[in-house]
Amino acid sequence: MNQKKLVVLGAGESGVGAAILGKEKGWDVFVSDYGTIAPHYREMLDSENIPWEDGRHSMDRILAADEIVKSPGISPSTPVMKAVTEAGIPVISEIEFAGRYTDAKMVCITGSNGKTTTTLLTYHILKDAGVNVGLAGNVGRSLALQVAREHHDVYVIELSSFQLENMYEFKANVAVILNITPDHLDRYDYKMQNYINAKFRILNNMGPQDAFIYWQDDPVITAQLQHFATEARKYPFSERPEPGTHAYIDDESELVIDTPETSLNMPRAELSLNGLHNLYNSMAAALSACLLDIRRDDIRRALSDFEGVEHRLEYVDTINGVRYINDSKATNVNSCWYALESATPGTVLILGGKDKGNDYTEIEPLVREKVKAIVCMGKDNTKLLDFFTGKVDTIIDTHSMEDAVAACASVATDGDSVLLSPCCASFDLFTSYEDRGRKFKDAVRALKQ
Ligand code: ADP
Repeated sequence: MNQKKLVVLGAGESGVGAAILGKEKGWDVFVSDYGTIAPHYREMLDSENIPWEDGRHSMDRILAADEIVKSPGISPSTPVMKAVTEAGIPVISEIEFAGRYTDAKMVCITGSNGKTTTTLLTYHILKDAGVNVGLAGNVGRSLALQVAREHHDVYVIELSSFQLENMYEFKANVAVILNITPDHLDRYDYKMQNYINAKFRILNNMGPQDAFIYWQDDPVITAQLQHFATEARKYPFSERPEPGTHAYIDDESELVIDTPETSLNMPRAELSLNGLHNLYNSMAAALSACLLDIRRDDIRRALSDFEGVEHRLEYVDTINGVRYINDSKATNVNSCWYALESATPGTVLILGGKDKGNDYTEIEPLVREKVKAIVCMGKDNTKLLDFFTGKVDTIIDTHSMEDAVAACASVATDGDSVLLSPCCASFDLFTSYEDRGRKFKDAVRALKQ
């Protein structure tokens, strides 16, 4: 019998994992990456005798595929994907591919903001409770690689809209949609509905045994649910109790999780993650854990001892009475809104970078209420300067991390906070948001010397 041909496009964490699983399951695998494959991934492919190429796409080999696994970073509008679509070759994501070869329970988390935090928190609760759990998707290791080499009973998976785009038969047992706000619209023909549809693919194939957890007060999610049918049981959460909510804060400031499976209470003050957005993330994680029958005490303990995630409202240091906070991961306006929501008046805010079509009116009221100075940090700060001049007492134009942090230190006084929550991608001055966050922390610590 002829071996079926699998072509994997993109050889990062997910692509290499898919290639290895494909080989193990008897596919004839070929990997093609238009960029450069990192040495570590080349070695992995070589040690499995999987043929690969980089720096080009050999279209004859690619178009001979029976099926293609596409890495989420490759846009459908690239020439290679256009040719593949024209040829009618089925294209799936790594998660879809891996899902075929495991019976593990799948807890899948998506949303515009909060995915990584909620995924790591959910994983922490399950792991600490002794569940044999794997962490996969955007955060963690490739699902396919784990399916090929390890055994887990449950996976907690962070799913981006890009990954969801190429999922068809995959089924989540527990699906979470944290929120939906405009992001990545450049990949969706600037049509919000296309982006919403991609997020809702997380509910594909779910049945009455499965659970859908979502934020009840999100206008986009609730509007979509008006005309979207799912058989999954619904577990909405909200800050305050509303009809139908399964997680909320009661009049005694207690977090209440109330599901037919388990119910629990704990003081909100004992949650390790601060801020309203993190309350939502904690609710989503706790609901997921309840639905997997984790004991109440284990859930409570894990919600209160979770250490948080780097670059997300991460406390850096206090210097001359000024608290420095690294929220470099805030690459859109909505996540900055939540950072400001939990900020105190007397905040010096660093904004700027690569603007993805931002509308700053969303944060304007919080800026007026809590921000004493804005420090713009980007290659080109014109849009920020035009928008915020006259709306804050001080606005400063800088073009490097060192200058931005020095400007913050000069305007912040005892009791103030400096918040890096830039609303923008980092690629104008940095290689990634992690790079930006680390350089911020270095520059802050250098103030001490
Ligand atoms: P994602 O993986 O979806 O990008 P992260 O957990 O990395 O989400 O958080 C990204 C940013 O969004 C952080 O700056 C954080 O302050 C903010 N954020 C986290 N959770 C939420 C939420 N539930 N709603 C809105 N913003 C959030």
